[in-house]
Amino acid sequence: MDNNLPVVCRACNRTVKMDQVKFDETRRSYVCITCFNSTHKTMPEIRRTNPSSLKTEAENLKSVKDSMVKYSCLGCKYHFSRKKDKQVASCPYCGSKKLQTLGDTANQILEDADKYNF
Ligand SMILES: [Zn+2]
Ligand SMILES: [Zn+2]
Repeated sequence: MDNNLPVVCRACNRTVKMDQVKFDETRRSYVCITCFNSTHKTMPEIRRTNPSSLKTEAENLKSVKDSMVKYSCLGCKYHFSRKKDKQVASCPYCGSKKLQTLGDTANQILEDADKYNF
């Protein structure tokens, strides 16, 4: 008995070897292993990535704000902010070295603006 006789798959009509076919109960006929697996395979579970590990946009903005220092140029009244670890020697607008470091809170700046009304 030759086990390698060519058999036509009932599902895809491919001719496959006898040892490459399986009896499919749902089709009640012999199909190739590929077709058999595609019929009987279980759907793999789709894992969703957990978004909780990602920082929210608000948290990111806060951390950036915290590391910024506000400067005010006494020469041209230009206001700008730089990162805390970055040394600022002169005004980026007029090049003046007369720089004033402003308070961290926005309230302080508003207060100053009210007082001097510049
Ligand atoms: Zn097939
Ligand atoms: Zn300036």
